Amino acid sequence: MKLQVVPVGAYQTNCYIIEEESMCIVIDPGDGNNRILKELTERGARADQVVVTHGHMDHFADAAKLAEHFQTPIYFPKEECAYLSSAEARRGPYDERVVHAFETALGGRGKLTEDGETIRFGNLCFRVIVFGGHSKAGMCLYEENQKMLIAGDQLFAGSIGRTDLYRGSGADLIAGIRQKILCLPEDTVVLPGHGPHTTIGKEKRSNPFLTGDLLWDL
Ligand SMILES: [Zn+2]
Repeated sequence: MKLQVVPVGAYQTNCYIIEEESMCIVIDPGDGNNRILKELTERGARADQVVVTHGHMDHFADAAKLAEHFQTPIYFPKEECAYLSSAEARRGPYDERVVHAFETALGGRGKLTEDGETIRFGNLCFRVIVFGGHSKAGMCLYEENQKMLIAGDQLFAGSIGRTDLYRGSGADLIAGIRQKILCLPEDTVVLPGHGPHTTIGKEKRSNPFLTGDLLWDL
């Protein structure tokens, strides 16, 4: 397995390109279609699967273009999809443009995933972990043999995802991280949606949002 990080767009979203047995999975392409196509072309590769961790534009904007180009499915959390397609999301402060962009982004290629399911890719087997707090229902992917967690915007090195966007909740996010992520082996490498990688052990010991060192109003 080979892993490449390609930061894309204004928010420098970490797009991960994972190569496995001459196939590539592209996670969170953001709006980096041109850059990603260049990276893939240079190595004579194609996107065999596209994954979007959650419904924020800096992660999904170009997903449909990329999936269309390579005729691949887009893995996306089912609960997040249901919410973004709901009347509540349309009515609420969730930006109508985002909902529209999201529908276009999936472009009928959505392969909806639920907590506890697995996504297989070559010899890799990703366990889907879904919880809310940063968005309605964001997805992480855990690969046990590679000791690797694709964390989306749930957990960052020394921080956690922002919770001030619509349907965000600090309490839900911290509970989700504690219940579903901190139980993973300490030497698991965490690959977040923005910024540098870290490990479960390091975050358990020093992330102020998780150690209780930071008091904030939930
Ligand atoms: Zn996000």
